[in-house]
Amino acid sequence: MDTPTKPEPAAARTAVADTRPLQVLQQVFGYPAFRGAQQEIIEHVSAGGDALVLMPTGGGKSLCYQVPAIVRHRAGQGVAVVVSPLIALMHDQVGALHEAGVAAAYLNSSLEGDEARRIERELMSGQLVLLYAAPERILTPRFLAMMASLHERGLLSLFAIDEAHCVSQWGHDFREEYLGLSALHEQFPGVPRVALTATADSHTRADIVERLQLQEARLFVASFDRPNIRYTIVEKDEPKKQLLRFIRDEHDGDAGVVYCQSRRRVEETATWLQTEGINALPYHAGLDADVRRRHQDRFLREDGIVVVATIAFGMGIDKPDVRFVAHLDLPKNIEAYYQETGRAGRDGLPANAWMSYGLADVVNQRRMIDESEAEEDFKRLQRGKLDALLALCEAIDCRRVRLLSYFGQPSTPCGNCDNCVSSPETWDATEAARKALSGIYRFRQAGGQRYGAGHLIDVLRGKTTEKVTQHGHQSLSTFGIGADVSEAQWRLVLRQLIALGHVQAEGDYNTLALADSAREVLRGEVPVRLRVPAEPRGRGATGRGERPARGSAGKPPPLPLDAEATERFLRLKAWRAEVAREHNLPAYVVFHDATLAEMAREQPASMQALAAISGVGAKKLEAYGHEILRVLGGETGVISGPD
Ligand code: ADP
Ligand code: ZN
Repeated sequence: MDTPTKPEPAAARTAVADTRPLQVLQQVFGYPAFRGAQQEIIEHVSAGGDALVLMPTGGGKSLCYQVPAIVRHRAGQGVAVVVSPLIALMHDQVGALHEAGVAAAYLNSSLEGDEARRIERELMSGQLVLLYAAPERILTPRFLAMMASLHERGLLSLFAIDEAHCVSQWGHDFREEYLGLSALHEQFPGVPRVALTATADSHTRADIVERLQLQEARLFVASFDRPNIRYTIVEKDEPKKQLLRFIRDEHDGDAGVVYCQSRRRVEETATWLQTEGINALPYHAGLDADVRRRHQDRFLREDGIVVVATIAFGMGIDKPDVRFVAHLDLPKNIEAYYQETGRAGRDGLPANAWMSYGLADVVNQRRMIDESEAEEDFKRLQRGKLDALLALCEAIDCRRVRLLSYFGQPSTPCGNCDNCVSSPETWDATEAARKALSGIYRFRQAGGQRYGAGHLIDVLRGKTTEKVTQHGHQSLSTFGIGADVSEAQWRLVLRQLIALGHVQAEGDYNTLALADSAREVLRGEVPVRLRVPAEPRGRGATGRGERPARGSAGKPPPLPLDAEATERFLRLKAWRAEVAREHNLPAYVVFHDATLAEMAREQPASMQALAAISGVGAKKLEAYGHEILRVLGGETGVISGPD
């Protein structure tokens, strides 16, 4: 720091403890500018205001409390206590802060007694800038007493409550211990609080405000857009093969997550990918805790691992270079979809969110809601949410516009989703939809019985199958009225009608029934436009052909590096791997890929030039600067000059 023997100009400048947020961002984290709402949030919290921050996954929530914590510590206001639900991740987060030269620590059950005492001493001395702990630890009498002592001395600077939606019973991450956190406000009323979450629905938000007593807090809703993520939803055909093709074509050697609905499907899919040469690992709640930890660890630390998981995987994982998130099955709702897909591309480089979707998904999700034990009110809410997701899947216009409008944010077509990249071929299915609904209606009139989609399509297409003659359905007025529409198209019409809620599929045989809203469609008041299905004449075809994946929107541009820069990039990566091993941290904690790529491209030749690269803060410059210059100069000899 102030060693007179090493008067590195950049380092010397940054040795002054500046309390301006932007300066802290630049010096400590090496980022040139705040992203979106960060500046306002950070200024507000640094000045002692309470805040509730809604920001999408990957939007940059951590800095919203880390920068204020540093600012306030530099101003003599002591330590920020960060409430975090997952012990597993505190280690890497604290490691990343150490790399940036910030005095941070965590207290959790993974520590030996001696280690915990040492950290408590550091805490009480006021040296620490941030302390991470789980809520159950924070609410112990011992910890509350320590905080009271700090508070008396004016050394309790901030409470940051991460993953604040855990306080709400509406979400799927509810944690009982979060309910106790209102005690913080009651016992330490003067200490500012910032609560952060990526869950944006109004129920959860109201719960957070009420249960954490944040009525006076300022609400910040950041942009929910993640422009570097490309959204693609394909029709489910042979899902595993479609997935494999997607990974091979667009993500060879990349890190990614594949979400499936059941443990069995996770196992099957992981095994299948392995036999196809993909480095895939399963992850679900049925696996041994040890196995899960090992798989998660490999995903974080090794390059190019694909984790196949149920939703049990991912919360709090902040690996920045996940290049794709794939859904083999439909998630529960748009919040879940957005949270899961948001784990891709946190580093801001191009990433893909890919999903395959079919009629069975619709039926299964509806059934899961219908058959759950929940109250009717809750079920109604869940159905509404599912409908919004289905509308997204069926959409023939910009996916992002729909996603953002779900979060209350208006936008224009994005140019970076499947429907924008190549607009789907569509047809006017208004007439066909009316015919399908009349078909269902006539069944009811002709004897009250209900039938499934297959039989309905046979009747509409005028096929005299055994079942048709047996039930006398060839004499219905709807028999043969839809012979001009292919079977594949009929399936799509029915799926759309089910997805839109005009038709319900019920019981073990998925028999079809009309919903109230079907009347408007029957009267022709609701125009229906559908995409042309993958195989317009699909009847006889088994669909085994090797046609290119539909909707696969092409590889996003890779890092724009030429051959020489790529070589430098690879040298830097090899060097980084060594440092990461030495420090027992994931490589991205040392430097992100994006930072190494910029170094490789810009070829900084001095410490000062290196300091200008995004992601190089003062501490990292001091610790690694000379080595990086050496690695960069290695082969070309630019740095060493004439001898
Ligand atoms: P979240 O917690 O909201 O999911 P993170 O806090 O993990 O997101 O941030 C996502 C990534 O974006 C991190 O790798 C972080 O270093 C990076 N990041 C955040 N803010 C900035 C910024 N202003 N400039 C550059 N990178 C940023
Ligand atoms: Zn779009």
